[in-house]
Amino acid sequence: MIKTIVVFLIIGLIITGILVNPILVKKRRNRLKNRPFPPLWNAIVENNLPIFLYLSPNEIRRLQGHIQVFLAEKQFIGCRGLQVTEEMKLTIAAIACLLLLNESGQYFPKLRSILVYPNAYFVQETNSVGKYVVEERRVARLGESWTNDQLVVSWEQVKQDTNNWRDGRNVVLHEFAHQLDQENGKAEGVPILQHNSDYTIWAKVMTEAYQQLCNDVLQGVKTVMDSYGATNPAEFFAVATETFFEKPHQLLSKHPALYEQLQRYYQLDPVQWA
Ligand SMILES: [Zn+2]
Repeated sequence: MIKTIVVFLIIGLIITGILVNPILVKKRRNRLKNRPFPPLWNAIVENNLPIFLYLSPNEIRRLQGHIQVFLAEKQFIGCRGLQVTEEMKLTIAAIACLLLLNESGQYFPKLRSILVYPNAYFVQETNSVGKYVVEERRVARLGESWTNDQLVVSWEQVKQDTNNWRDGRNVVLHEFAHQLDQENGKAEGVPILQHNSDYTIWAKVMTEAYQQLCNDVLQGVKTVMDSYGATNPAEFFAVATETFFEKPHQLLSKHPALYEQLQRYYQLDPVQWA
């Protein structure tokens, strides 16, 4: 009996070693990236990712590689009876992997499962009202990114977003931007930047743009970014990411410094895609 337990323990350790060893992980991912991208998958991505055809051949190849890794490493769970289809997985993976084209090398490391609801889902929210009163209410949500290992999206919303790519709203871009932000453990609107020297200018530009959005929202001024970005710096980064990908021209003309920071971070220039 003890012998069997020891054998299982050793096998478990070997498997864990293979899964977490960075060199082996890299090798496994490279193998996945080099797999041929099925033509049916390509047709789905082309159909559901409106900017796909504007990417350079090199970016398309890299995106396809990332999608292969993403689909192999993340688990999709259908909620409220939803059967997760190939189209759902590929659409969500393709949009999420746009954020990885800067080759920072990580695949949303904390995330394990993506929960897909057919449409909006409801959660019970508690809010303090005054000193001794707690108010409970049922609120509808379209997506959220949890710090444990899950992310939630409504498929109806994902589809709607792919059909309206230019409206500056995209639940997948939004929730996966939160994942990037949460990679260092904190959600405060600062993802892991390439160089240590990048943080000072990032903080300056982001703080200024965030404060401007807060002021504009307070004064009822029309803004390029969704007013939800004024909630806190973490939401600001997620909303700025949505705007960067979906309304790049407006963002560049109204907030060039912010656009430049996002362009440097994502290593992409979406104004070229129009
Ligand atoms: Zn958010």
